[in-house]
Amino acid sequence: MTEPSAETLADRVRAGDLRLHELEEHADADVAATARRLLVAEVADADVDVLGEYAFDAADADANIENMIGAVQVPLGVAGPVAIDGDALSGERYLPLATTEGALVASLNRGCSVLNDAGGATARVTKRGMTRAPVFRVADVAGAATLVEWVEDNISELRAAAEATTSHGELLDVTPYVVGNNVYLRFRYDTKDAMGMNMATIATGEACELIEAETDASLVALSGNLCSDKKPAAVNAVEGRGRSVSADVTIPREIVEERLHTTPEAIAEINTRKNLVGSAKAGSLGFNAHVANAVAAMFLATGQDEAQVVEGANAITTAETTPEGDLYCSVSLASLEVGTVGGGTRLPTQAAGLEILGVRGGGDPAGGNADALAEAIAVGALAGELSLLAALGSRHLSSAHADLGR
Ligand code: NAP
Repeated sequence: MTEPSAETLADRVRAGDLRLHELEEHADADVAATARRLLVAEVADADVDVLGEYAFDAADADANIENMIGAVQVPLGVAGPVAIDGDALSGERYLPLATTEGALVASLNRGCSVLNDAGGATARVTKRGMTRAPVFRVADVAGAATLVEWVEDNISELRAAAEATTSHGELLDVTPYVVGNNVYLRFRYDTKDAMGMNMATIATGEACELIEAETDASLVALSGNLCSDKKPAAVNAVEGRGRSVSADVTIPREIVEERLHTTPEAIAEINTRKNLVGSAKAGSLGFNAHVANAVAAMFLATGQDEAQVVEGANAITTAETTPEGDLYCSVSLASLEVGTVGGGTRLPTQAAGLEILGVRGGGDPAGGNADALAEAIAVGALAGELSLLAALGSRHLSSAHADLGR
């Protein structure tokens, strides 16, 4: 039987014979996407043909998108190569950056160049753990205390239930939070090379069934927002989520003066007055200059969940003058949620972004590739912080944007 054309499929949707999300049942995924594009173009009265110019089989994106009509292309650039001394990633790497913000890649590239002049950046992952925090209803605070005690006494059983759903995930701990007759249990997992949100959700669902079977608590929602996913939240900044990762560098004074046209004292003062005091006054969770820029561009380039830039930008930048008169600068990202398997990492262009860093797929040992990706992003963030602080120090920011961005 020959497959229907895109026009035929579009006609059947117009006639009410098929729904928009049913087209893949009648034609291959690229034809289905073309049919939907025709329908969208008609309603919008716009030419959207360019959205059909994509470099992968639509069928390969089946797990990533519904009602696909094409793909949006984001330009990809690189900064570096930059020398990274990490635990999981060591050596020189180009940093892949997908963005439409002119001047961003140039800024990170300048930062990388200064990091290299200083001998490279050091990076370490200091904490791991993807979290899911279901909320339970109990009778009263006495019931809440009983549930908390039950969880402490039955952690092995909870671990067995959760880990039965995954071959890679490991339940690390369960932290209870009580608010009256609400009990939030923050399950934290080592999800290895997976970002782990699906893995943690499925595993926690299984543990919740055990809790409901063995206690008087009722599950209200598998996510009670203390996880906390895709919302600005202090719990992630304090306790971490995904990877907590830091990067730092000490830059000799001459290099700050010659390459960045400012001084260690000026950068340290700007960092204190802007990133620390200014952010405190603003009530910000981000005590940094623009970490979200590096995180977002590297997330897009490597197939991360882009909404998790919210947590990824939970970062503190420090800068100080050393006793020798050099500049010490660091950036610490508390909750960088990254994976090198699953999710968007499967798509060919995103997989190529991971290849640029040498971190595609499962690591050896498992978790090593996601650690390495976290270290690379932290170094990119450090390069961006240095470059922007220096631009402010040399009063060069607006002219750089005028030259490069418009
Ligand atoms: P996933 O694509 O659901 O699963 C990845 C799977 O890869 C793991 O479950 C694991 O199987 C397997 N795997 C193979 N090699 C591995 C290795 N070396 N390390 C770890 N796992 C390995 O990915 P996910 O990271 O759990 O979830 C990411 C997705 O969740 C993204 O698409 C994101 O958009 C989405 N998301 C979901 C929610 C939610 O609430 N459900 C929220 C936000 C985002 P085993 O488990 O069998 O070991």
